[in-house]
Amino acid sequence: MEKNEFLAELGNLEEEALRAISSSGTLDELENARIKFLGSKGGLNEFSKKMGTLKKEDRPETGRVLNEARGKITSSFSERASLLKEEAEEKEQIDVTLPGRRRKMGSRHLIPKTSAEICSIFERMGFTITEGPEVETDYYNFEALNFPPDHPSRDMQQSLFVGDGLLLRTHTSCVQIRTMEKKKPPVWIVVPGKTYRRDDDLTHSPMFNQIEGLAVDKNITMADLKGVLKSFVEEFFSPRTRIRLRPSFFPFTEPSAEVDIGCVICGGKGCRICKGTGWLEVLGCGMVNPVLYDFVGYDPEEVSGFAFGIGVDRMAMLKYNLDNISRFYSGDARFLRQFP
Ligand SMILES: [Zn+2]
Repeated sequence: MEKNEFLAELGNLEEEALRAISSSGTLDELENARIKFLGSKGGLNEFSKKMGTLKKEDRPETGRVLNEARGKITSSFSERASLLKEEAEEKEQIDVTLPGRRRKMGSRHLIPKTSAEICSIFERMGFTITEGPEVETDYYNFEALNFPPDHPSRDMQQSLFVGDGLLLRTHTSCVQIRTMEKKKPPVWIVVPGKTYRRDDDLTHSPMFNQIEGLAVDKNITMADLKGVLKSFVEEFFSPRTRIRLRPSFFPFTEPSAEVDIGCVICGGKGCRICKGTGWLEVLGCGMVNPVLYDFVGYDPEEVSGFAFGIGVDRMAMLKYNLDNISRFYSGDARFLRQFP
């Protein structure tokens, strides 16, 4: 056989093989093409045999061209094979007879949910919801609430300052002053919102949620305060919840009290949560210190009032029996899904 004839036929075969491979739509078609061109009785092997009919001096060149053709056809074959395999697997994954995926229902996070529940109890008692800024001036956060400069109570607060005399409010009590400045008595407000202190352990988070309550009106007494708080805990926890007030100190109330409730976990028998006492400290309160009225132009001879501060996170922990405050803020959806 002549060299030129051999090379021309080989060129035709290569072209035909590449076309057959690229037009194979399935793995079976591709396998047929492989047998036809690369198989032991396939076209390329026929050319290997025909090499023997060539002149000796033409063999090196024709051998090289034959090897190149084999390489091209083989790699084209394996490329096509992996592409067709991928497509086949994708097709397998879609099973149109399967039922659709159900979307999970979202629900309200426990903290805003608890906050809204507490506020609505007070709304039913005649309080109005009010809000204020989270970045506060020293005046509203401390001074007008009777925390004089260098007063040791400012240390208790462990404030987070943001510069220029501004700080992240350490309590929602600031809104007391802001409201009384704008409005003549009677004032009956609850103030939900975020508050910030340098504090971080199992039961404290640097950011926590508080609800401040303030009532200023004619003839308000400590009995009104206790009655309002008693109604609140009975509604929030259970009608059998007991309450007791212990003397305490806050600069903006006089007298001041800590409020304990009968332990909602053990019913007063004593447990780990109440440290065996049967009582849980849940909030602070007191009669509005009359010095505050000077800052807002109220007449202490005309009006009196009470204030209280409720930790929302603590209330939620007690209500849902949780032992670690960080769960609220970890963003773990598995935790949140337990409370649909
Ligand atoms: Zn207990």
